Amino acid sequence: MSNTETTVTMFDYLRHHATIEPEIQSAIKRVLDSGWLVLGPEVKTFEEAFSHYLNFDGYCIGVNSGTDALTIALRSLNIGLGDEVITVSNTAVPTVSAIREVGATPVFCDIDPATSLMDITKVTTATTSKTRAVIPVHLFGNMVDIPKLRNELSTIDASIAIIEDCAQSQGAKIDNQHAGTLGDISAFSFYPTKNLGAYGDGGMIACSSKKLADKIRRIRMYGFEKGHYSEEEGVNSRLDELQAAILGVKLRYLPQQVDNRRRIAHYYDTHLHPSIQRLSPAANVHHAYHLYVVRVNQRDKLRETLAKKGISTGIHYQTPIHLMRGYQFLGIEKGRLPETEKAAAELLSLPMFPELYDDELAYVCECINQSM
Ligand SMILES: *Cc1c(COP(=O)(O)O)cnc(C)c1O
Repeated sequence: MSNTETTVTMFDYLRHHATIEPEIQSAIKRVLDSGWLVLGPEVKTFEEAFSHYLNFDGYCIGVNSGTDALTIALRSLNIGLGDEVITVSNTAVPTVSAIREVGATPVFCDIDPATSLMDITKVTTATTSKTRAVIPVHLFGNMVDIPKLRNELSTIDASIAIIEDCAQSQGAKIDNQHAGTLGDISAFSFYPTKNLGAYGDGGMIACSSKKLADKIRRIRMYGFEKGHYSEEEGVNSRLDELQAAILGVKLRYLPQQVDNRRRIAHYYDTHLHPSIQRLSPAANVHHAYHLYVVRVNQRDKLRETLAKKGISTGIHYQTPIHLMRGYQFLGIEKGRLPETEKAAAELLSLPMFPELYDDELAYVCECINQSM
């Protein structure tokens, strides 16, 4: 392998597509021949399959995106203007834009430097009389300890809802229970790069309350229950039949794909130089490795070195949301979330997707270890 010609990408859906193409094509043909394109039998079948996958006694509602899943979850709890929602600042912007979309105010909790996840011990000090919900983000495929968070919150106000942001955690479990089955509502994204990715946009809401599920289903389509009559204010956030049919095919491969992600993570764990800081999950967490993230002091220098060797890396996330121009109006000054701000300068995401070749993995580790 000539190093000057090697390139390793962060993500390449075509490799998986090549192995499942006949199944995808026949799913697409089935939909096109059916005469039904939006919110029909394919969506229903996929909702049931996803709920079966989550192995819980609850309901799944397909929507248009992960962002919509979060927004509709908040709306279904009547959270809006004047309410506060606690989350983290090192997350994908949509976690925060969903809170703003319903008119609520995001309140940021600092992170645990060992995992880069929400520091549960700091949630209680972030609560006020206006706190209505907490959105823990299961970042990178790791999991926030939801039962522990619930415990913390119950000492303050048991009515504060937990909305799990599961956009990156399809396949993750804690004490053998799936991410998305422990909070009051959870939001999944099927954006193409996620662990379960559609061939376009898509999302899912999961919850165990039938009453909430019915409300969410109404909000998903203009507040309709029967006919074209709005029972309550809603939006348009339908999952389309093509994406549902494609997701139905891909869901069957998800367990195997998560196993592959875990195998790749194990390779990094055991082959990277010991001086590189790993973000290890807690012992009771089955990490789904949406991303494999390390912490390094000279992050930008290492990133540049790797880029010169054809290796793409990512930063999740380069700028904490409270420091972005678009969120200056929140008035949260630099220095207020020290662990979040420190992590932003050190986190580096290495190539991670289930079809990464062994020689690519070996090459990435070799290049990183050489530069240590
Ligand atoms: C991707 C992502 C979302 C948003 O999902 P979309 O389907 O892109 O709208 C929300 N939260 C997190 C943590 C994400 O990674």
